[in-house]
Amino acid sequence: MKLPHLDWVTHDSPYLRQLREGFRLLNFDGEMEAAYHRYHARVFLIRMRWSLLVAIVLFLVFAVLDSISLPDEVRNPTLTIRLGLIGPVLLLNWLATYRRRLLGSLQLLGGVCALVCGMGVVGIIWVARAHGYPLPYEGIILVTVFFYFLTGLRFVVASLCGWLIFLAYLAMELINDLDGAVLLYNLFFLATANVIGSVGCYFLEYATRQSFLAQGLLQDLAEKDSLTGLFNRRAFGERAEASWRQAQREQQPLAVVMMDVDFFKRYNDHYGHNAGDEALRGVSRVIGAQARRPLDMTARYGGEEFVGLWYDLDEAAVMQILEQLRAEVEALGLAHAKSDIAPVVTLSIGLAWLVPQPHQSLADALRLADVALYLAKEQGRNRVVGKRPGSSQVA
Ligand code: GH3
Ligand code: MG
Ligand code: MG
Repeated sequence: MKLPHLDWVTHDSPYLRQLREGFRLLNFDGEMEAAYHRYHARVFLIRMRWSLLVAIVLFLVFAVLDSISLPDEVRNPTLTIRLGLIGPVLLLNWLATYRRRLLGSLQLLGGVCALVCGMGVVGIIWVARAHGYPLPYEGIILVTVFFYFLTGLRFVVASLCGWLIFLAYLAMELINDLDGAVLLYNLFFLATANVIGSVGCYFLEYATRQSFLAQGLLQDLAEKDSLTGLFNRRAFGERAEASWRQAQREQQPLAVVMMDVDFFKRYNDHYGHNAGDEALRGVSRVIGAQARRPLDMTARYGGEEFVGLWYDLDEAAVMQILEQLRAEVEALGLAHAKSDIAPVVTLSIGLAWLVPQPHQSLADALRLADVALYLAKEQGRNRVVGKRPGSSQVA
């Protein structure tokens, strides 16, 4: 079940790597597994909510059936299990789907719910057997299939619950001394339900994981630059606007930064375009590593120009980061025989540091950073120059 036509994709995307690597054991590498769990919970939330509602209604219908058809001594304990245990647990699980902060716990809650329902039905059959009333065991099959397919439990959780319920049923019938041939048939049917459920659940989760990776890859293709893996200009624009508005609202300082590789045309002309690409990759790795917090970001603005945004840092702290960034690019030691200022590839950096005011826009800040970059070039390149709105150069 491979996604077709991915050979043309040159992006270095973790989603693509995972797609190519495969995931037969329904497990992704590292942090992607946790990201998938969050995705799974979101995707199946509505299904879980509605299927639990259906389950509650069905259990109530069964309760009515019980109260009409069962003899007194069986009816009371049966209704106690149904209405005192299974019903409330289903209801609680249903209510939990409305609490955002329980989203990450829904697999656990759903698993507990499946077990309580399965064991509850086993209990009901036990009570009936104890009174010599032959209640059909098929209810357990219904519960098993329901939890495999309808509530969005992940394969591991659903299979664990399904087989635990199977064992509980086996133990109950052994205690009750059910006729061996009948027990064998019942077990065979219940095991078959589990096998069907496990296989179906596996393929369902496999397809869900595949669409998680495809969506992630699609987002990477739309937002990331294929050469460097940094965000592209469009993605930067969108995200930076959001950070700008937040900084404007909260009156926090923003550092908007433009960076440009020095004498890069000469580098290309001398070493060739492929070497130029490789140098851009090296520089972009240094740049990307400097934006680690959630609201910071760096991007390739175009050609050999990069842009960056650092949120809520004082000017001295930003200057320190940028100075380190400049020094690290120099320390890459990428030989540049045609540079007038150093024997290696270097970077000029222009910083606009400001607390966004209502009359200012992100475009204004980018223009200011560009002016600072121009000054850095003019003053000899391989340096950081900072500017504030309406002020002279700060460094
Ligand atoms: P300055 O120090 O003033 O910035 O000089 P410069 O030569 O770096 O500036 P200029 O803007 O004239 O040249 C930029 C060069 O960057 C032009 C082009 O050869 C190169 N370039 C742009 N994009 C790419 C790319 O994707 N790969 C490679 N290898 N080179 C690129
Ligand atoms: Mg340039
Ligand atoms: Mg340049």
